[in-house]
Amino acid sequence: MRKFGHNINRNDIYYDIMPIDPVCGIEMDEDLATIHEYDGKKYYFCCEGCRSIFSRKPGKYSKK
Ligand SMILES: [Zn+2]
Repeated sequence: MRKFGHNINRNDIYYDIMPIDPVCGIEMDEDLATIHEYDGKKYYFCCEGCRSIFSRKPGKYSKK
């Protein structure tokens, strides 16, 4: 039998996952992260240093 009502959207799934800093790979609390938006997507960083590294070379750290 097929399952219906499987209406979890991507935002809900993302909400349950700890954001990961793409530069240093650290998991962190979303509330404490430095947020940077690139290409319509939000990226989370542990500190301003990682955020600035990403913003210089976003293509290196963002994968589609
Ligand atoms: Zn970091």
